[in-house]
Amino acid sequence: MTNKMQTAQVEEFGQPLVFNELDIPTPGPGQILVKTEACGVCHTDLHARNGDWPLKPALPFTPGHEGIGIVTELGAGVTAVKKGDRVGVPWLYSACGHCEFCLAAQETVCADAEFGGYTRNGGFAEYIIANPNYVAHIPKGLSALDAAPLICAGITTYKGLKETQAKPGQWVVISGIGGLGHLGVQYAKAMGLHVCAVDIDDAKLKHATLLGADAVVNAKHEDAAAAVINATNGGAHGVLITAPSLPAFEQGVAMTRKHGTCVLVGIPPGKFPTPLFDVVANCITIRGSFVGTRSDMAEALAFAADGKVKADIELQPLSAINEVFDRLANGEVPSRVVIDFTATSI
Ligand code: NAD
Ligand code: ZN
Ligand code: ZN
Repeated sequence: MTNKMQTAQVEEFGQPLVFNELDIPTPGPGQILVKTEACGVCHTDLHARNGDWPLKPALPFTPGHEGIGIVTELGAGVTAVKKGDRVGVPWLYSACGHCEFCLAAQETVCADAEFGGYTRNGGFAEYIIANPNYVAHIPKGLSALDAAPLICAGITTYKGLKETQAKPGQWVVISGIGGLGHLGVQYAKAMGLHVCAVDIDDAKLKHATLLGADAVVNAKHEDAAAAVINATNGGAHGVLITAPSLPAFEQGVAMTRKHGTCVLVGIPPGKFPTPLFDVVANCITIRGSFVGTRSDMAEALAFAADGKVKADIELQPLSAINEVFDRLANGEVPSRVVIDFTATSI
């Protein structure tokens, strides 16, 4: 084996990723080395590449936070995993473990959290250094390619749905039926919820119907809030906004039923207007939700291991990452692209 690995890195915000051959890193004490088999491409990677958010990663960095692979080396003192385990290196790369949020199993908001593919190098590389206490444990029977989208898109929509507090038999809206949303529809159905899918692309909505959505609304062609209120007889009990587009947020609040909850997970840069009187008078909760905890991860993966949720994936080599980013920016990726590192040519 050579001691070099191929990576795709952001060297400059807004510019194409650069393919750099780097030394395979050595895991330090408490770290592990993971040989990448697959890594999903999340819209967050595109925000990261563009430097969209107030917290910017240091350049250069390797994006990718849906990396799945096999543990090949253990740093000193590691006992949480063993060589040969299949693990995922997620967005929540690590947290401090002892602050008030970590103690309350709210580790995604730990002030000392590190983020995979953002503040730490991620899965657009043949090897990833990971923290064994925060990796996802991939259930037997779930392939690396199938597991990849679950460790960000899956956990984020599953957790976001839980945060809506919608109960079985009630209505949820999933706004944005891309990488996140197509999994959100499946989790919501598996959780016994009625689903109204909202997107601006008829193909995505057709897909949502195939995945079990009970109603669909195209926000490009109709007044999305009015259509949802009509379809759900008064608004959705829970609204989950995954769309990376600001108009979807204002619409999402307007679709929320009285005493319902609108959960924000899409993170387009910017602000959206909030109709204060309606939010107050209708007792609406607006809540942010950021990926999920390690126990949310185990639950989200269990749905897939049980065959209730399956990502629709398109395989691509790492060398195609810049074309994939262009398509993602234009809404041209049907569901989720997964970089396949097991193919003969990456
Ligand atoms: P994606 O590009 O795969 O899917 C986005 C979908 O939204 C597409 O189907 C697109 O047609 C649709 N859309 C665009 N404009 C719309 C509108 N106005 N109304 C309804 N639908 C619209 O993206 P993704 O990978 O699913 O990520 C979505 C967003 O979620 C990104 O902003 C990403 O950064 C964010 N994200 C957040 C978290 C979190 O923890 N909160 C985790 C992962 C991703
Ligand atoms: Zn993501
Ligand atoms: Zn902490």
